[in-house]
Amino acid sequence: MLAPILQDAQGRTISYLRLSLTDRCNFRCSYCSPLAMEQHEDPLSRPEVARLTGIFARLGVRRVRLTGGEPTLRRDLVEIVRDVAASPGIDEVALTTNGQALAELAGPLRAAGLTRVNISLDTLDPARLQALSGRAASLPRITAGIAAAFAAGFEAVKLNVVVVRGVNDGELAALARFGWGHGAIVRFIELMPFGQGEPVPLAEVRERLVAQGLRLEPDATRGWGPATHMRGFGEGAPAGGGLLGFIGAMTENFCEGCNRVRVAADGSLRACLGGREQVSLKALLRDGTPDEAIGDEIRAALMLKREKHEMGAPGNRLLPMVGTGG
Ligand code: SAM
Ligand code: SF4
Repeated sequence: MLAPILQDAQGRTISYLRLSLTDRCNFRCSYCSPLAMEQHEDPLSRPEVARLTGIFARLGVRRVRLTGGEPTLRRDLVEIVRDVAASPGIDEVALTTNGQALAELAGPLRAAGLTRVNISLDTLDPARLQALSGRAASLPRITAGIAAAFAAGFEAVKLNVVVVRGVNDGELAALARFGWGHGAIVRFIELMPFGQGEPVPLAEVRERLVAQGLRLEPDATRGWGPATHMRGFGEGAPAGGGLLGFIGAMTENFCEGCNRVRVAADGSLRACLGGREQVSLKALLRDGTPDEAIGDEIRAALMLKREKHEMGAPGNRLLPMVGTGG
């Protein structure tokens, strides 16, 4: 039997599901989390996540990233990972986390079948971290989480750095070196207009890295998502150069070859991070709709997906990142 193929309106194959498990968060990153944001107390349950993953897998999804809000706030996260990893057709399960609880969770998550972990770390300065992400953010705990992830033997550990002008743009090479020193690949993410802060275009991020002492060479590595890569050389880089990722939603080809579909914390399907179209999969999961009909709704929603996001368009009020899941 031929493997199923899920496609969007542009003929792009959709094989990667990003599923937000909660819109609650223990951090308050100023670029992500509107302070007054409504918090949904009723996310998809563990059996609903397992059922929905099965539906997506039967449509052709092969990779699932669990995100949030902060997914480690879910007490049943390890069991959810176990269910998703056991879903026939799902080859990889990844997590994006702020790292605060990873020291305790990395081992159990790896044992449950998690293959990859992305940890957000925007600065190596403890005071700056708290100014950016709130008083709960602890650099020693995040660093311990990164070390635990490395020790747990994930296929990949990546550090996500959102670059904010005048905040952390002076420590980009230091963050790259920190990542390499901890067995992680650092990815620089262009700020998207969900919250506060001024973006730094990726071209300038690369210039800053060079000005801060690294030599960069192109690298053809491609992962699941939109990141492009370069290899960094110089002090602190591993022999043969260290990989660096770049994700530019605003100035680079973020949408080209998009293979992603999102389910937000409220159980709604979002065909595009920058779009407002939604289908409440949670309602369908709860009203007795059979799996096949839910699959039809997913296919139909993807047929509304445009070629490119419109995040920069004037008047396009975006749904908060903390709910959509990044
Ligand atoms: N709480 C987890 C974390 O911070 O890693 C997972 C959810 S968070 C919404 C997922 C990713 O989105 C993080 O790497 C975060 O840095 C990124 N992010 C949040 N707001 C952003 C924005 N305005 N622009 C670019 N990236 C953003
Ligand atoms: Fe929370 Fe992650 Fe958003 Fe920061 S980026 S507020 S840690 S969801």
